[in-house]
Amino acid sequence: YLYKPWQMKKTTTTCNYCGDGCQMYLETKDAEVIRVTSPLSWKNKWGDRSETAKGHGGLCVRGRFGFEYLDAKTRLTQPLVREGNQLVEKPWLDVMHQVVDRFAEIKQKHGADAIAGVITARCTNEELYLFQKLMRTVFGTNQLDSSARYGHLNFVCASKQAVGLGRTPNDWEDFTKAKAVLLIGSNITETNPLTAVRIKEAIRVYKAQVVTLDSAVTNMAKLASHPFLIKPGTEGLVIDGLVKAAIEQDLVDEETVGKHPKAFSALKSAVAGLSLEQLAMQTGLSADDFREIAGIFAEAPRSIVICAEGIVRRPQGYQNVLKLHDLAWITGKLGKPGCGVNTLTEEANEQGAVDMGAAPEFLPGQARFDDPAARDRFAKAWDGSLPAAQSGASLMEILRRCKSGQIKALYVIGENPLATLPASVEVRAALERLELLVVQDPFLTDTARHAHVVLPACTYAEKDGTFTNLEGRVLRVRQAMEPVGESLPDWHIMTALASGLGAQWDYQSPNDIQAEIMKLLPGYYNLGQPRKVVPQPDHYLANGYSAEVATRYRPAPASADSKRPFALMMGQVLVHSGKLSTEAPGLIKIAPNTGKLRMNMQDMERLGLNEGVKVRLTSERGSLQLGVQPDLSVAPGTCFFPEHFNEPPVKDLMTVSVDPATGVPAFKLTWVGIEPASRD
Ligand code: SF4
Repeated sequence: YLYKPWQMKKTTTTCNYCGDGCQMYLETKDAEVIRVTSPLSWKNKWGDRSETAKGHGGLCVRGRFGFEYLDAKTRLTQPLVREGNQLVEKPWLDVMHQVVDRFAEIKQKHGADAIAGVITARCTNEELYLFQKLMRTVFGTNQLDSSARYGHLNFVCASKQAVGLGRTPNDWEDFTKAKAVLLIGSNITETNPLTAVRIKEAIRVYKAQVVTLDSAVTNMAKLASHPFLIKPGTEGLVIDGLVKAAIEQDLVDEETVGKHPKAFSALKSAVAGLSLEQLAMQTGLSADDFREIAGIFAEAPRSIVICAEGIVRRPQGYQNVLKLHDLAWITGKLGKPGCGVNTLTEEANEQGAVDMGAAPEFLPGQARFDDPAARDRFAKAWDGSLPAAQSGASLMEILRRCKSGQIKALYVIGENPLATLPASVEVRAALERLELLVVQDPFLTDTARHAHVVLPACTYAEKDGTFTNLEGRVLRVRQAMEPVGESLPDWHIMTALASGLGAQWDYQSPNDIQAEIMKLLPGYYNLGQPRKVVPQPDHYLANGYSAEVATRYRPAPASADSKRPFALMMGQVLVHSGKLSTEAPGLIKIAPNTGKLRMNMQDMERLGLNEGVKVRLTSERGSLQLGVQPDLSVAPGTCFFPEHFNEPPVKDLMTVSVDPATGVPAFKLTWVGIEPASRD
């Protein structure tokens, strides 16, 4: 390094890549980020590690080396306004006047529901809170959403339904001390590497039995006591088999199910028609595998489930999380300390986005938006009125309304739907129909290139606030550097916008916003401490469960046909979702975009393909050509492309299905044919 340690400013803050919430030192010199180090990566003189040093002082490659985007040359430094085909730099004051006038005009002419907003779950809690307040009380619409819609809301809604808790019930200590871990649909070492360390510790120190169920050979599968490869898209069927096996083998906890005999008998009837042999054929497991896994889970004194992208980002995600709760309930692992059904959050503050009410179905504190008492409370606190209880739209519906011309103005903060969603969603057409597209982002994203106005926003390193990690810990984000160029923190821009539109907002700093949140959600800011609760399923089991469970065990799995025999999966590799990491050259050096389809060696040999040879990949959505490369983690009959690279546009081959219960779009798995390109 060019500088001595004492010449640099060292700021303790929270990593903003994944939901693990690792603490880090951002070391800066003036406006330059020099390095990231890890607080207390050593034991103190008593041999203890700091409570706040999440990951025991460890950081993964993203946290440690993925900081270069913070002061990258590609950062936006000034507001931009569209003039013809060009985006032209303009002064802040002029641009804000223009934005305020345009929003006000559109609202006056077409009504509040001509406006919608979408925000990234990488903003701070304070910004997410302000965003939903702006949309609801200043614009007057409930058409708002965050990137938690891409999967986490499937978990939140199902867990809330089952046990009344919209987040993971267990913390890292529970993960470490679990005796049985059922890891389903999760590449945990890539998506949440420091949570993966806890599972590794559970294996090493507590001799936990770890069952992995995935359609790829994950790194965790190599360490697990019971690694199982399943056919792609059959996660729901696997859970069916486990519930069936637990009942068939009498692994149920009599005391637990005895409290709700009607609910248990409804569940038994729901799975009565399932056959383990049939499920075995569909999933790639054997009937005995189902029995063995159910036995491991039921018989361990502390068992946890961790379900991630293979469940929450796939079709039937909401139902599959409920089915995992069924499994945990009948085996006595729901409502028992140290046990429960958990998920992993991909972005730093997905949990905070839901907790702060940045979703049409929730007010802050996850109060239902249509709950009259909650509506009253918030309307009073905000000294205004809320949009109608049944109004509102989540991400996919917002985009549909933009495309139909119903929504005229869209406010996008830190999100990039054009790059994230497949072409079949027609995001481009939706954006082109808008009269006003305002994008607020640190970078000129694909979506921003279509905007009428682009507002330069700060990254987490330039602002104060908090994130809520996957355990429910609220962690401090501290300003480590001055804003790049004329960029401003998102909370600052939103406050100016609200004030311009006539709201009496007087927030001078994130502390003022925090003070308001504290009043409305007492106890939320338990900084650093997970809010340990043991959620109980009693309310759900006594109310409506029996009717609901009767329809739950009728899965319709995606299946290959002879023309499209390969499962094409998109997912994360170590560099993450790509929204920020593709702007960090250090990460791209470690995991570059080869532009190639990753295939199993056996399949490549069978098709006569050598590395680098071009193939034509055809799904029901279209086809494209790209090279291939062998990958040991890819199972036979499947192929993989990292989701964070859009070149070539493999995501456009994906079919999108929207979860009917939660509006979560699933677009990470489809069926394709692969043939050498020369045969075209
Ligand atoms: Fe950041 Fe997640 Fe890595 Fe921790 S595990 S350093 S929070 S990306």
